[in-house]
Amino acid sequence: MSANDALSKIPVVEEHVPGAKILHPLRRYVQLGTLLLLVLIPASGLFRIDPGAGIVMLDRQVWFSDIFILMGFWVFIASLLIMMYSLVGAVFCGWMCPQNTVSEWANTMTEKLLGRRALMMDISGERMQVAARRKSLLNYIVLAVLLLGASLVYALIPMFYFYPPQVIWSFVTFQSDPALANGLRWIYMVCVFVLFTDITVIRHLMCKYMCIYRVWQHSFKTRETLHISYDTTRSDHCANCHYCVDSCFLDLDPRQPELFDSCVNCGACVVACDELHSKSKKLAGPGLLQLTLGDEWKGKYRGMVGSFFNRARAATMATIIGALAFSYGVATYEPASFSVYRADTNQGEQILDYRINIAYKINQPENMHIRVEGLAQNDFSIDKHDVHFSGFGRQDVGLHLSGGLSEGLHRFRVVVTADSGWTKTFQVVHFASLQGRGKS
Ligand code: SF4
Ligand code: SF4
Repeated sequence: MSANDALSKIPVVEEHVPGAKILHPLRRYVQLGTLLLLVLIPASGLFRIDPGAGIVMLDRQVWFSDIFILMGFWVFIASLLIMMYSLVGAVFCGWMCPQNTVSEWANTMTEKLLGRRALMMDISGERMQVAARRKSLLNYIVLAVLLLGASLVYALIPMFYFYPPQVIWSFVTFQSDPALANGLRWIYMVCVFVLFTDITVIRHLMCKYMCIYRVWQHSFKTRETLHISYDTTRSDHCANCHYCVDSCFLDLDPRQPELFDSCVNCGACVVACDELHSKSKKLAGPGLLQLTLGDEWKGKYRGMVGSFFNRARAATMATIIGALAFSYGVATYEPASFSVYRADTNQGEQILDYRINIAYKINQPENMHIRVEGLAQNDFSIDKHDVHFSGFGRQDVGLHLSGGLSEGLHRFRVVVTADSGWTKTFQVVHFASLQGRGKS
């Protein structure tokens, strides 16, 4: 066997930082998935704010009286987010935030059309530098059209939280729809203008200098939170190299990770250094950067899960409490509600008219049936015994007592039953006075 044959049989092990090869495509999928989720959450009816019906979850109105659902939901989400910040830091910004997603996309488009150094805005005062061979009016126009198109699409996303998809479709196809609020087109255009300004000139300046949410996340960051670690033992590889810094859209130097820096753990620098090493014939081994959990600065690496729960004990408890409260709220959710109160009309000096107010909280058709117990048939009349709801809504039904009731207190019950099985009873105490003053 020749030496070449022997060498070809030795397996070549490609050295990479663990996970670096899939980090970039994975992040892109997560970013796109998040945008899709932001549309699917309201479009599927999971959560939205109906202009007429208020907060709606899974086609069910959630009132402030559904306190366990509301409080449980927010406590659960807030404590989960706190746990996430504590474990993986500002990963939300680098992997999910729509502002960062669109800013990165805008940077890519600008780079493709105007060149790598064509920063649309730089607070350092550096002038925008367009590559000489890309200085064409067409490139500027194409970039402007792309950025405007993205703004038009992005501005539609919040609308899904207020309108069902079919109404949004009427909006984008310029059809009239009674559900659309007057002046919505103006509000939309203002949103498009704000987004266009953001996508064109602000981009990551928002992340660096304006985002309160990112600052808030840093409150939960510790030395053990996910961070970039740098292999100082091979720092000689970095001579004359700036590749990782150039790849960071926040202009950070990942070789100098500090506890409360602005890193969003996007991993772009990890991928850059790893690619550099995998392609270089001079630089041996994997890249010098990687995403790491644990307190390497203290010289000890505590168990990830144990360390995490140690730090996030209160948040873990809050998550469990939130989940339990939410489950209890869902289990005791009332699909409808009704009350009986005196109508404002007087029959002479006696108050004999009542109003049965029924509210149905589910956006599906339902039939309700009303009966009155505790009064003789000829002592009252009711406008209708059956009420139909085509979706959530509220209806009034008049109940009229006879003027011939004997003097004194009369207790009776109004019972409402739905075809779905829901039933509720309301107790009424009516005072009939022969002197002509009615009280209840
Ligand atoms: S890309 Fe890697 S080799 Fe280059 S400067 Fe950054 S850490 Fe050093
Ligand atoms: S330092 Fe690296 S991981 Fe952090 S934001 Fe910059 S490119 Fe992303």
